[in-house]
Amino acid sequence: MDKGYVWLVGAGPGDAALITVKGLDCIRQVQVLIHDRLVSTELLAEAPADCLIINVGKNPDHHPVPQSQINTLLVKYAREGKRVVRLKGGDPYVFGRGGEEAEELAKAGLPFDVVPGISSAIGGLAYAGIPVTHRDYASAFHIVTGHQCDGNEPQDWRALANVPGTLVVLMGMTRLHEICRQLIEGGKAASTAAAVVMYASQPRQRVVTGTLATLHAEAERAGLHAPALIVIGEVVNLRALLARSSYE
Ligand code: SAH
Repeated sequence: MDKGYVWLVGAGPGDAALITVKGLDCIRQVQVLIHDRLVSTELLAEAPADCLIINVGKNPDHHPVPQSQINTLLVKYAREGKRVVRLKGGDPYVFGRGGEEAEELAKAGLPFDVVPGISSAIGGLAYAGIPVTHRDYASAFHIVTGHQCDGNEPQDWRALANVPGTLVVLMGMTRLHEICRQLIEGGKAASTAAAVVMYASQPRQRVVTGTLATLHAEAERAGLHAPALIVIGEVVNLRALLARSSYE
């Protein structure tokens, strides 16, 4: 039997229309589609009627499928000769463990390809009217995780307080207060503009703005929670002029 093929496809931040032409093409030809929770149902509807669709994401009633099992599924279906799409939110290689899945496939000697997607860290901010760079306000940006993995070095927020440019934090909502506090302690001005963008590029998108000192309280008052982007830097002020989303 022929070996199958796996495409690691980035679905973009949420708006189904933000997938690439190549990504959509993969979905339309797939036999097994393995997707995360944040992926739009409109995209799943593009798969052929006889496609096996497997949700490996977290939802309120089910625990997420452990990464080792996701890897096993990818290898299993590819070995069976299937065309497999692993559909992931944003870009497959921006957090979300796409690199680990690719490693697993490479080690198993299975053919695979990566179809990049628009990361929420950039495209999601755009939908909130926040350009990640701007000649007058930010000539660099840093995308970091707020989530502490077992065995990993903790994120050095004090050091990040001193790097110029925009700071975008993914997976940081449960530690929002601590992150803001440590950035201030590290020397970032408490008055630095900051925002939380929840469900970016989706009809339920919500944005709260403030400063490093106030963001946590503002976000809590508004009831914002994951999935959300935390963005810190002067570019946040541009939102007052640039917010365009028809959702808001
Ligand atoms: N690969 C993805 C990121 C995966 S990590 C990407 O490139 O966007 C998951 C985290 O991404 C979430 O906890 C959240 O911080 C962020 N995220 C993903 N999609 C989002 C969205 N539509 N709105 C806000 N945050 C989002």
